[in-house]
Amino acid sequence: GCMGGGSGGQTIVAGTAPGFPPFEMKNEDGELVGFDIDLFEAVVDETDYTLEEWSEFEFSSLIPALQNDRIDAIAAAMTINEERQETISFSDPYYNADQSILVANNSDFRPESLDDLSGQRVGAQEGTTGAGVVNSELIEEGKLDESNFNTYGNYVFAVEDLENGNIDAVVLDQPVAQTFESQRDVQVAFVYETGERYGFGIRQDDSDLQSALNDGLATVQDNGTYEEIRNEWFSD
Ligand code: GLN
Repeated sequence: GCMGGGSGGQTIVAGTAPGFPPFEMKNEDGELVGFDIDLFEAVVDETDYTLEEWSEFEFSSLIPALQNDRIDAIAAAMTINEERQETISFSDPYYNADQSILVANNSDFRPESLDDLSGQRVGAQEGTTGAGVVNSELIEEGKLDESNFNTYGNYVFAVEDLENGNIDAVVLDQPVAQTFESQRDVQVAFVYETGERYGFGIRQDDSDLQSALNDGLATVQDNGTYEEIRNEWFSD
C-alpha cells in the first residue's frame, strides 16, 4: 500500500467484504456496489488521496490485510470496538447499528430473546460482532453448546443455511438483516440492542490518512452528500 502518488497526495487501496447488503455487495453485472462503496469514494474525493482500487476479502481477513499493507483502509460496515482498536485505528463513526436475530419464514421458530436461542442451531459470520454476541451471551453463559454454533465466511451462506433449515437463527447487524428480510425467505424475529458504530479502519501509524478521512467524512456530512448516498441505499 501507500504508493507515492504523482502530483498531490498518495494512492490508497481500500478493502471490503461483499455479501453484506446494502453496505457492500455484487450487482447483477458482478460489480462491487453499496453504501460503503459510495460513501468511502465520496469521502476520499474530499481528500488529497486517490483511491486506486477496491480489494475484496472475507470479513475476517480484512484486519490482517490492513496490517500486512495489502490494503490501506477498510470500508466494510466494521464496528468500532476496543478489541479491534488494540491492532488498528478507526475513522470517526459513520453509521449506527444493533444486532438482529433472523429466522426462516417457513419454520415456526419465533424467538423473542437471546435465551430463546438456547439449545437451537445458531449461525453467524466469522469474526463479527454478531458472532461475538453468540459467544459471550450464549456459549460462555452455558446456554448454547459450541457444536450448535455454525460460523460462515460470509453471511450469505448463513442465510442460505437458514432458508434450507440447517440452522434455526442467524445473528447479524440489524440493517443487513432487514435487507435480507426484503430479499430472501427470512424475517427479523427481534432486535438485540448493542449500540454499535461503524468506522473506516486504518493502520495505527497512519494518522495522516485518519485525519484526512475524518475531515472528508465531516465535509460529506455537512454538504448533503452523506444524506444523498444514505437515501439511495436505505428506504427509511
Ligand atoms: N458490524 C459487524 C462487525 O463489525 C459486521 C460487519 C460485517 O460483517 N461486514 O463485526
